[in-house]
Amino acid sequence: MPISVAIVGSGPAGFYTAEALVKTLDGDVAVDILERLPTPFGLIRAGVAPDHQTTKKVARSFEKTAHRPEVRYFGNVEVGRDVALAELQRTHDAVVLAVGAPFDRPLGIPGEDKVGVIGSAAFVGWYNAHPDFADLDPDLNTETVCVIGNGNVAIDVARVLVKTAAEMADSDIPEYAQRAIARAPIKDVYLFGRRGPIEAKFTNVELREMGRLDECAPVVDAAQLPDAVGEMSERDHRLKEKNLATLREFATQDAGERRKRVHFRFFVSPVEILGGQRVEGLRLEKTRLEGGRAVGVGETFEVACGLVIPAVGYRSVAVEGAPFDEANAIVRSEEGRVAPGLYAVGWIRRGPTGVIATNRPDGVAVAQCIRDDFGAGAKPGRVALERLLEERGVQVVGYADWKRIEQAEEAGAAAPAPRRKLFRIADMLNVARTGEARRSAD
Ligand code: NAP
Repeated sequence: MPISVAIVGSGPAGFYTAEALVKTLDGDVAVDILERLPTPFGLIRAGVAPDHQTTKKVARSFEKTAHRPEVRYFGNVEVGRDVALAELQRTHDAVVLAVGAPFDRPLGIPGEDKVGVIGSAAFVGWYNAHPDFADLDPDLNTETVCVIGNGNVAIDVARVLVKTAAEMADSDIPEYAQRAIARAPIKDVYLFGRRGPIEAKFTNVELREMGRLDECAPVVDAAQLPDAVGEMSERDHRLKEKNLATLREFATQDAGERRKRVHFRFFVSPVEILGGQRVEGLRLEKTRLEGGRAVGVGETFEVACGLVIPAVGYRSVAVEGAPFDEANAIVRSEEGRVAPGLYAVGWIRRGPTGVIATNRPDGVAVAQCIRDDFGAGAKPGRVALERLLEERGVQVVGYADWKRIEQAEEAGAAAPAPRRKLFRIADMLNVARTGEARRSAD
């Protein structure tokens, strides 16, 4: 009997695990991938920026895995709502948690609850047509936006806010978001880093992109750039040198005719979000590095703005039935083993860092654990899950159903956009059921 494995979550960590299981167990496995949304691929669809279509192409290799005879996709099935984790542990030999880190880490400063403070998880979800955030309706009626953080998400957010409609034409940004951004009077976007240019976590491709925008110029103060990168591993040194060279180039650039600016400001930490009910500004404190940490130097200043987007990292939440390490916001595991028959991969296992491919070794390691932990399968797996979901009247979206949704999205797009995403679950379920695309207004 094949080993039955349920993977909870269809993002990169989930799909890499499915791929590794099929390879490692050489056909002797039945893998069910459960996803709470009708649509698969997690952050590939709703996290990777809409203008980074090349990055999204990794979904093609996931599709090959989805088409393997050992693998079945169960979209629109939420663990905790439609089926409990404990039930999956009864039906399947192994359960793998691949649920990611879908929430924002709080900043922990006064004023964070004001209207106009929107965490990057919500903001990215909004411009990526994630059904949870499609109604966010952020007020972009401001000339100045403050983005907090020096990671790739911060840079994605800044870029999407300053690109022109023409620059976004071959993206899959939803029309509601593109319209709102195009109408917004935004002129200045600040990217605030609490540490320096060397410590910034941007990757160089993303950083360089900021120098090639039609209407926006990067602004960097040369005085904030060190002469040398300092001591570190050869690889890090090479990467940091590249970023430093890019920032030096930005520092010499003239904004020319360009109407918008993205300001890179280092060594500043947010201390308070100002205003009444709504955001009116941000107070920051200058910092210096002490043993690699940012320490306030007591000098503060204010920036008037109407929107603050903290992009300071994501956060996982506890999964009922799995031990959770609150301090690090990850499921407790020993190299992916959570409890007998229960495993974790990706951001829920190790925290929200790394690029898409960083999840691949996680999947390989857990597939090997499962191979070592089970000689053969003993539980019914898929048939039992299907029976349970049928009894509960859950409309399972299979992979072929998802392909119908995808087809409707592609058919609805105006070239050169690759797709016009559906963003209402009811619309997705309708296409899955009938093949007909009915689209709520966007
Ligand atoms: P990240 O890379 O960890 O960056 C978070 C940033 O927030 C850091 O600059 C961090 O500063 C700062 N920060 C944290 N707490 C703060 C606070 N209280 N006040 C001020 N600043 C604070 O996280 P991310 O940008 O969310 O990205 C998550 C992962 O996805 C990363 O591995 C990223 O590379 C990846 N990603 C990749 C791409 C791409 O390849 N194009 C796109 C998007 C995301 P410190 O360094 O001082 O902590």
